[in-house]
Amino acid sequence: MSELSSRASAEIELVNEHGTNNYGPLPVVLAEGKGAWVTDVDGKRYLDAVMAYSAANFGHSNDKFIDIACAQMRKLDVTSRAFYATGFGEFAEAITKLSGLDRVLMMNTGAEANETAIKAARKWGYKVKGVPADEAKIIVMHGNFHGRTTTIMSFSDDENARDGFGPFTPGFVKVPFGDTDAIEAAIDDNTVAVLLEPIQGEGGVVVPPEGYLKRVREITQRANVLMICDEVQTGMGRTGTPFRFQAEGILPDIVTCAKSLSAGLYPVSAVLGSNEVMNVFTPGTHGSTFGGNPVATALGKAVCDELATGKWQAHAEELHPVLFDGLRALLGRGVIEVRGVALWAGVDIDPAIGTAAEVVAELIERGILIKNTRPQSIRVALPIVVSREEIELFVREFTAVIERRWNERQA
Ligand code: PLP
Repeated sequence: MSELSSRASAEIELVNEHGTNNYGPLPVVLAEGKGAWVTDVDGKRYLDAVMAYSAANFGHSNDKFIDIACAQMRKLDVTSRAFYATGFGEFAEAITKLSGLDRVLMMNTGAEANETAIKAARKWGYKVKGVPADEAKIIVMHGNFHGRTTTIMSFSDDENARDGFGPFTPGFVKVPFGDTDAIEAAIDDNTVAVLLEPIQGEGGVVVPPEGYLKRVREITQRANVLMICDEVQTGMGRTGTPFRFQAEGILPDIVTCAKSLSAGLYPVSAVLGSNEVMNVFTPGTHGSTFGGNPVATALGKAVCDELATGKWQAHAEELHPVLFDGLRALLGRGVIEVRGVALWAGVDIDPAIGTAAEVVAELIERGILIKNTRPQSIRVALPIVVSREEIELFVREFTAVIERRWNERQA
């Protein structure tokens, strides 16, 4: 990467001196953002293909959502759930309609939503299914990413993320992602739920075989086991439907969402579930000071309304070929595999042309903000409000970098 300016270096030094080193940020210091673009402290613009790990699906600093958040902040900000506040009911109605589930419980982050889903499933297991106390099992997938809390880390495959954080929480059984026979074989009398991402995002945008969700639904229904879909990354329009489970015409028992539920302006997460499951919660059994506050519900309602029009999902579907035809044209010439849906792609780089991190560094140099998820895998998450011209620019730059490296290797 090119030499850092003194301004960028000063910012990085300050962070390195006083911040904790739990991320390894790339050396870009961002100062502004609008739509699909961000600008660094030196005025260099980048087309953003990370979008805060899909938290900013509607683009950066979207005026419509900013106006709604500001108006709500001026009117009523945080009250706690010790009282009713206007906005919660309307939001709850909108998101239950959008998802088809009966009830919503609000938290703040994706990890918290998943912790809540785990608690709901366990309590349902004991109170409704009749599993003996403390024996509940939840089936999870290899390659999963559900957040960073200690319970969630208990069933992660990421040894670096687990190292030194034990003892972990028992009660999880891991099976390969995409393998329904393995789920069926792992279910026993104490199994209360199957927890999965409909598409594994952090895993590199891994799309399971077609019909997978439908089959998991059939298996879980037959075995009286809950199906939990973590839609923290796949939800809120990222995949061409408001939630990914809708693409296979099923209804899980529990769905978690976060990230773009607030258009990325504010940490807002939600757990959606059937009456049978959500009614296991009674006053005092779960909660969060900020969960479901009036600013969160105002933003959540606005995002649900926007998705209910279908306009952005149609836009993403229409532009899907522009992105995917462009990426697939590189197969066999520096790119090994292209996966994904809508405007969300996982691209595996041929080790012969270098690592994904090397490709990422070159793209950033050329004004594309992007990040690898695995050593050879790059995730592309353009906002669903991106234009055709912006996607064409992305494909041009991506192609230029891959072709340059491919030709250099051939020479
Ligand atoms: N679940 C999935 C599928 C995610 O992709 C993420 C974050 O990337 C999370 C959960 C965790 O969300 P948060 O970082 O808001 O806790």
